[in-house]
Amino acid sequence: MALPHTQIGGGGLHILVAEDIDGGYTVPNRGVFIHAVDGVSLTLERNEVLGIAGESGCGKSTLAKIIYGAVEPPLTVRRGRVLIEAGDKGFIDMLSCDRDTVRREIMWKTLSYIPQNSMNVLNPMKRIRDHFIETFKFHGMEIGKRDVVNYIREVFNSVGLPVDAINAYPHQLSGGMRQRIVIALALMLRPRVVLADEPTTAVDVVTQLGILSFLKEWQRSNKCSIIVISHDMGVHAYMDDRIAIMYAGNIVEYGEAEKVFMEPLHPYTKLLIESLIKRGERTLKKGILGSPPNLANPPPGCRFHPRCPYAMDVCRREEPPETIVGSRYRVRCWLYSRDGR
Ligand code: ATP
Ligand code: SF4
Repeated sequence: MALPHTQIGGGGLHILVAEDIDGGYTVPNRGVFIHAVDGVSLTLERNEVLGIAGESGCGKSTLAKIIYGAVEPPLTVRRGRVLIEAGDKGFIDMLSCDRDTVRREIMWKTLSYIPQNSMNVLNPMKRIRDHFIETFKFHGMEIGKRDVVNYIREVFNSVGLPVDAINAYPHQLSGGMRQRIVIALALMLRPRVVLADEPTTAVDVVTQLGILSFLKEWQRSNKCSIIVISHDMGVHAYMDDRIAIMYAGNIVEYGEAEKVFMEPLHPYTKLLIESLIKRGERTLKKGILGSPPNLANPPPGCRFHPRCPYAMDVCRREEPPETIVGSRYRVRCWLYSRDGR
């Protein structure tokens, strides 16, 4: 089966392909479906950072859970595949592969997930060092305590954590420290793909910069790929090679980050970028008027039309098609459509 959009970014370069993903939440007893991800396709190339940006509630975390195969009720996937290259096994589909294989062969080793609010995922009954030792053991890796401690020492230094935190229980550490520990755990088996959902929400700006530069350096030196999910365009400006802008369950603009930041096409992207504070500015930015739609009942046509300063009649009636603007660029907006409406 042909993979749509795999040509974006060049042939044979991809390590992960998400293909026409459609999913959301079924609200029990109310017959309501919250359509959080609507026909999303994207590719992740080897050795790149791909950002997924957009306001809160636009479906970023839901997409991350689906890519990781963490699909449990009320989340359901109605369509799509997530293909990941798993060494000599070739590409496997995270959504149809049996969970045991995914847990043993893919998670942590090939694909690691740093979930949103990750500081709360540590087991409160276990010391930090035991989390590391058990992860190695679960994957059948023979490793001595000294090697674990050496690894921890190296990574903790890089992310600004005191090494003696390895003897602490999670509740003895701050939220920011726990978040950095989860990042260190996620990178431990040197996965080829890291999925980081808001990796710096619980930390101050100085620590944020330390974590982001560590992640970027780690990605470069290990030649792996990272998907960074964040509502913060500053994080994307710093991290991304390519970026996908999400609005109300759709990807509305997708391309090289430098181009998107310098010459954004979609009106929503323009507003997101304008909301960034620039050096020397001391005024509060206005933000985007209005709020994202209710995904149980999104507006007809372009979902952004109630907030868009350029909305035309066609925008209120019909969903905009995706327009390929260049070999590595696409946008979903009637302003760029070539079908003459
Ligand atoms: P945030 O960064 O605030 O999490 P997001 O862009 O990651 O925002 P999602 O968390 O994916 O967005 O949410 C997309 C939509 O799905 C929202 O309307 C949200 O209210 C809804 N949603 C998320 N989790 C659930 C759930 N467990 N049950 C029902 N609806 C949910
Ligand atoms: Fe605005 Fe229309 Fe483009 Fe939607 S399709 S972003 S409403 S101009």
